[in-house]
Amino acid sequence: MFRYAEVLVDVANRRLDQSFHYLVPEYLNLKIGMRVLVSLQNRKVQGLVVNLTNELREEMEGVNLKHVIEIVDEDSLVPSDLIELAHWLSQTTICSIAQSLHTVWPLLKGKVEAWIVLLASIEDSDVQTLQWLDSEAFRGLTVLNRARKKAISLKVFLKRANISVETLDKLLRHGLAKKEMRFIGTAQSSIEQVIKPEQNKKADSDKSQSGRTYELTKEQATAVKGVLAALEEGSPQTVLLHGVTGSGKTEVYRELISQVLAQGGDAILLVPEISLTSQVARSFESQFGEQVIILHSGLGQREKMKAWSDIVSGLKRIVIGARSAVFAPLPHLRLIILDEEHDGAYKQDENPKYHARDVARKRMDQRKGVVLLGSATPSLEAYAAGQTGKIRMLSMTTRIGTSVLPPVEIVDMRDELRQGNRSIFSLPLQQKLRERVDRGEQTMLFLNRRGYSTFVVCRECGYVVSCPNCDIALTYHTQGQAMRCHYCDYKELPPHTCPKCGSRYIRFFGQGTQRVEEEIQGLFPDVPILRLDYDTTRSSEAHHTILDSFRRQEASILVGTQMMAKGLDFPNVTLVGVIAADQTLNMPDFRARERTFQLLTQVAGRAGRSSKPGEVVIQTYSPRDSAVVRAANHDFQGFFWEEINYRKERKYPPFTHIIRVLLLHEKEDRVIKGANALGACLQQGMQEPEFGNTDLDILGPAPAVLSKLRNQWRWQISVKGTRQDLLRSFLHQGVQRFFKSPSSNGIILNIEVDPLST
Ligand code: ADP
Ligand code: ZN
Ligand code: ZN
Repeated sequence: MFRYAEVLVDVANRRLDQSFHYLVPEYLNLKIGMRVLVSLQNRKVQGLVVNLTNELREEMEGVNLKHVIEIVDEDSLVPSDLIELAHWLSQTTICSIAQSLHTVWPLLKGKVEAWIVLLASIEDSDVQTLQWLDSEAFRGLTVLNRARKKAISLKVFLKRANISVETLDKLLRHGLAKKEMRFIGTAQSSIEQVIKPEQNKKADSDKSQSGRTYELTKEQATAVKGVLAALEEGSPQTVLLHGVTGSGKTEVYRELISQVLAQGGDAILLVPEISLTSQVARSFESQFGEQVIILHSGLGQREKMKAWSDIVSGLKRIVIGARSAVFAPLPHLRLIILDEEHDGAYKQDENPKYHARDVARKRMDQRKGVVLLGSATPSLEAYAAGQTGKIRMLSMTTRIGTSVLPPVEIVDMRDELRQGNRSIFSLPLQQKLRERVDRGEQTMLFLNRRGYSTFVVCRECGYVVSCPNCDIALTYHTQGQAMRCHYCDYKELPPHTCPKCGSRYIRFFGQGTQRVEEEIQGLFPDVPILRLDYDTTRSSEAHHTILDSFRRQEASILVGTQMMAKGLDFPNVTLVGVIAADQTLNMPDFRARERTFQLLTQVAGRAGRSSKPGEVVIQTYSPRDSAVVRAANHDFQGFFWEEINYRKERKYPPFTHIIRVLLLHEKEDRVIKGANALGACLQQGMQEPEFGNTDLDILGPAPAVLSKLRNQWRWQISVKGTRQDLLRSFLHQGVQRFFKSPSSNGIILNIEVDPLST
């Protein structure tokens, strides 16, 4: 018996983002996940029990608590392992339990209920089975037989048939009926209404081949074996599959999922962006049929409810989706795969700011299952964990069939300028483009436009204006016309001439895909061109339309942003051009080099994926930067060791953790005052014995890269340290202190643990 219950009140209401504590009367047998009636501000309201404890937090001592009034419903609204997951989420990402519960279980208007389903009818059953049937059992079967769709909720069944639990057990044991968990929406009927005949998915060009399965290559078979071995151990495991682009990782996933299914398990396949994976998703659907469900953000509330119901009841056993699909409530979850695990899309930008990799890890810890991370360019964190033996590592080093990794040419854009070429396309790229157009082959051109920041580069010598303190590119802010370091707030005026070579060709970077498209159309007036970026793909249908059109070879050239780099497989693409590697390279972020390496490798991986050999051209002002050179040489290992040493030296992740606090306010002076006050509160914390002699390090306050967004000024403070728990409690105390100071009035705090970009 527990003394206190933590209750989320009025859970379906998103605005009420708070939990309250109540006393548990001795006569109530409360369980986590139950719905209860409590009083709040003299009203009786429903709430969900999210925690039971015998002790209260310090600040709650002495508060006059009320009693839980009664239990509304013995059934659990949310399965208890998912409530545990929500607690973990709110602790690790520093957000409220309500917020994380909404994330873990987005349908808080409904519940999970046990149902009984009739399996065999009395007429079909053989004599042996019938022998033991007594009148009570008969009554049960008759009730089931009459029920709609021969299924009925357990509670109603026991009441209506008036039979004992023992008899029910017998029915189940003899295979006459089965018990399953179902997710029931608030309006009982709504579930029925959303059951529509499966729409026939539009068949299109690649449908005919999509169901194919191959004889696995030796490398693939070894990888499959490795993961199966981990699964068999029955302890929580993470496996990293490092396979070069085109090595056939998807086939490995397919085989593993089919094996897991055969063993009675369920699986989740996560992809960075669902709209770009129709290819994979369709091929899984044609192999596994009805057992596959694809979760995407376009699902309406009712479709989602239906999806949840199908997943909870075991009808669907393979879930494919983006980040949030990691929460899919599969009852026998054994395997979670993250394809392209390095991708930033796995981190959620809003509260709770979770990383799907961490959630997957936590879920598989609960279930003693396996997380499989797949990538051609693993994140530094994952690869480092592999190197130190914390996780297992498997690798696939060759492309499928006769296909080889394409040769990559680095073009120095400073030379181009010297030769009088002011176009954004170098002469080598122009020439190779022309060859492709003549041969009827296809080209993809990448432009990475990320964030809103601008950096300043000398077109003559490639010099990038960067911070003398932080070794990170300075960011040009139109407001105030200054160059700023957003780590340490160093400032200087933008130069008119290059500080290094004196050239006047100073360039403020930040060109768009549209401009690239226009310029290329100028070079090749009659060639059909497609563009794929956030402007042309507002709707997810548009993605398919553009990509399908390109696949049908209706255009020779596809111009797009990094969203194209992800997992696309077009056999006729033999040339890939990167317009400016510098755009990622000079992001003011310690991960800039890692991102550049990943992006270039992934992008290059789109070329020459079938029998026709491919080629890649990378244009840059930093032709000797090792992220660029290593990517051009397909040298992941070399890059990894270099970068990991740099991170170690600089005390960046994975050697430390970072918590970033973003402060927002409409008035600039207020946000600056607030940031300074928070800075002071944190500094004060360093005086405490608990934190004094640790490696905690406060960075800032400084303006955020986006110093103003949606009319709010943004400043930030980061704290670094090797121990995450220490970091969290340090921040917690600092923030508490800050909220007591008048400078905190009206300031919005936005806290993020281990942000992907800083
Ligand atoms: P990756 O995800 O590692 O970049 P893919 O899974 O897209 O690679 O596979 C690359 C190509 O090889 C795809 O066209 C795929 O259909 C094909 N493929 C994969 N495995 C095999 C195999 N065992 N035999 C023949 N072709 C294969
Ligand atoms: Zn700096
Ligand atoms: Zn210069």
